[in-house]
Amino acid sequence: MAPIMLITGGSRGIGAATARAAAALGYDVCFSYHSNADAADLVASSIESLGVRVRAERADVSIEADVLNLFDTCEATLGVPDVLVNNVGVLGQQGELADFDADRIAWTVNVNVTGALLCMREASRRMSTARGGKGGSVINVSSKASTLGSPFEYVDYAATKGAVDSATIGLSKELGGAGVRVNCVRPGPIHTDIHASGGEPDRISRVAKGIPMARGGEPEEVANLILWLAGPEASYVNGALIDVAGGR
Ligand code: NAP
Repeated sequence: MAPIMLITGGSRGIGAATARAAAALGYDVCFSYHSNADAADLVASSIESLGVRVRAERADVSIEADVLNLFDTCEATLGVPDVLVNNVGVLGQQGELADFDADRIAWTVNVNVTGALLCMREASRRMSTARGGKGGSVINVSSKASTLGSPFEYVDYAATKGAVDSATIGLSKELGGAGVRVNCVRPGPIHTDIHASGGEPDRISRVAKGIPMARGGEPEEVANLILWLAGPEASYVNGALIDVAGGR
């Protein structure tokens, strides 16, 4: 049986690159998207052409019923996931915290923290050998922003990624003895659509001079680390927060 990977936010960016890399390694892939069904279809058909099973499901990870439906659908169509890639993350318009309204802060926290925790909770319930599961691996996608704070851009976003780091450490200790490794990748600036959400699609050319490697990363460079963490070569890696940020 092929291993099963569940990826949140697999329709674009890092999630899509991870879905394609996983399929190339022989994983069956279930991924979620939020509203871009066309992008999800493109990823799904490129994966299907590799001969693995794929399922794309709409879900807002900040809504518990959507998360339950996503995991239930994965289980019913492909099986209980061996790997959860907790990838969804959003950010708002760049600015100073003093100017952010409560709705924007709540949205960022709900998607990035509540959403990530709900998905981690479902993975715990379904994968933990202490609860009858077969074990597996959770990989959270945080950000180097959790250590830098994103001043004058999105302090709220950076704070949510700090929460993802903390949850990784805590859950790795809860599940380490129950057959589930929990780790985290912290990308630096990666060429995806997310920067347009902050109002600066070309952000990476501005920040590149502050990156020791003097360039942004490609989504595939993050996916490679995620796939390594998911695989047997990382069998004793648990509770790790690994930067993939060009030395930033
Ligand atoms: P992206 O290109 O903007 O893609 C976001 C993905 O998340 C899409 O598949 C989108 O679905 C989905 N999504 C958005 N809101 C959602 C919600 N409420 N519920 C479910 N799915 C939702 O993002 P990315 O740059 O690949 O980022 C992926 C992860 O890496 C995020 O956690 C981000 O914080 C982190 N990261 C990115 C960078 C970077 O520079 N790109 C750096 C550090 C960390 P639709 O296609 O349907 O909209």
